[in-house]
Amino acid sequence: MIYLLQYHQIAPHGNCSGTFVTPRIFENHIKELSKMEIKTLTRENYMHLLLHPPNENFVLITFDDGYENVYKYAFPILEKYGLKAAVFPITAYIGKVNLWEVPFLGRHAHLSRSQILELYKAGWIIGSHTVTHPDLRKLDEQKLKMELEISKKSLEDIIGDEIQALSYPYGLYNTKVKKAVRDAGYNIAFKSAGKLKFPLDFLEVPRRSVYISDFFIRTKLNPTYEKYYLLFERLANYFARLSPVYHTILSK
Ligand SMILES: [Zn+2]
Repeated sequence: MIYLLQYHQIAPHGNCSGTFVTPRIFENHIKELSKMEIKTLTRENYMHLLLHPPNENFVLITFDDGYENVYKYAFPILEKYGLKAAVFPITAYIGKVNLWEVPFLGRHAHLSRSQILELYKAGWIIGSHTVTHPDLRKLDEQKLKMELEISKKSLEDIIGDEIQALSYPYGLYNTKVKKAVRDAGYNIAFKSAGKLKFPLDFLEVPRRSVYISDFFIRTKLNPTYEKYYLLFERLANYFARLSPVYHTILSK
């Protein structure tokens, strides 16, 4: 079985959105995974194993938005346990603070170019989360193409390797967006919620979101609770949909 997890910030003090996890809870999650002998998917095998799901358990730990605290707190913990992860930076904010987010969520720094390169060299998957984190469904063809292509190119310039993966901002997409993603040369795109079913549609790969309330990762992986999580994710996604709307109102 494969488990795909979506984290955002790993920080001792987060924000009111609940999408951050403290370093202590994160380390507990990683300890639990190690005890359960669950390996992480790697840059070399993840596409293959998502195409041919294995009998053993694997997890892919992903971080959206590319916050610097992922480098500061999550990276050393994962290194300690010999595990890899994936990170999706927003390329216009590399080395900057999160001005794309509504101010009441607090200001947090994003990864720098050299930190992204270091994560790549340590074996992490680097993927795009677009240039400016828009709701991709709302963009005209030209802007959509720009968000997908320029972010891909910027990251490729940093790591000197091809960028194959994308994570949809707010987990939002439609048929038009999926086509543009394919045309821009991505091989895989992750969304936020949903049931992982094989064979997978590689342009809408669902992940299980991890929140501050998730003290134990094993309950998150337990199929008994899946129904409850799917319902909770539907609710969280509803709020995620409102987030770009708030932003437009507040930036006016
Ligand atoms: Zn995001």
